[in-house]
Amino acid sequence: MTGTEFEGKTALVTGAGSGIGQGAALRLAKGGAFVGLLGRTESELEETLDLIRSLGGDGVVLLADVSREDEMERAVDQLFDLRGRLDVVVANAGINGTWAPIDDLKPAEFDETIAVNLRGTYLTLHHTVRRMKKRGGSIVVISSINGTRTFTTPGATIYSATKAAQLAMVLQLALELGRHGIRINAVCPGAIETEIDDNTHIRKQRQTEVPAKFPEGDIPLTGGVPGTIEEVADVIAFLASDASRHVTGTPIWVDGGQSLLR
Ligand code: NAD
Repeated sequence: MTGTEFEGKTALVTGAGSGIGQGAALRLAKGGAFVGLLGRTESELEETLDLIRSLGGDGVVLLADVSREDEMERAVDQLFDLRGRLDVVVANAGINGTWAPIDDLKPAEFDETIAVNLRGTYLTLHHTVRRMKKRGGSIVVISSINGTRTFTTPGATIYSATKAAQLAMVLQLALELGRHGIRINAVCPGAIETEIDDNTHIRKQRQTEVPAKFPEGDIPLTGGVPGTIEEVADVIAFLASDASRHVTGTPIWVDGGQSLLR
């Protein structure tokens, strides 16, 4: 599915400086899309742009915090002014935040996860949808197995709540945006090899652990080996492309069957 499937199209990817966001940006650029690379860390976004250019593609760095309204409005305007169109949006930026017993989790920690994962998704959709209504397009929201099928990750209550809320937004908006030719779907990854665990604060895991262990590994398809960024990026590309033109309001779990076990 590489080549020209996104030729002439403009895409926006949030959290494009690393992990799944970077993989999605590279995948869309390989297919010919011009990609707006949105995130907070300029050096990482520049690195993604260098990688895209080394593949013969192109894009632009958009510096913004997804939880900040002014910054998001400016970034989306910058991309739209440059290209005059917006066809694909990947709402990917997110954090694990703090995983802790509910009576130990601080209000400020709750607020941070909600701000990035939920307010960030809302602001991404709020500022992009009005740019897509004329031509239609495809939005892919990166949720998780947590909050959609899996509820055993120790202490991940608020993270799971934001991921469940993202899926609820996708289902609700599929109906609202259908009349504008805008499709919206969710990708729900299982364990994927990225840096996200480095930014996770875990406290008192013993108190929140659920005693369920699978002797043969908890990812049936791979015997416990986590998925890759490319495996998620290929599904994002499918949902972004015309190959999924009749698909909207649908979660796709990319987890090797992990979420069916727990
Ligand atoms: P990652 O940490 O590599 O990537 C997250 C990106 O988002 C980073 O580039 C970071 O700089 C950016 N970001 C964070 N807060 C931001 C903010 N306020 N404004 C702008 N950018 C911000 O992690 P990842 O694993 O690639 O995660 C991407 C998405 O995938 C997240 O939504 C995460 O919940 C989801 N996910 C990941 C996994 C996994 O196993 N890695 C599993 C399920 C879901």
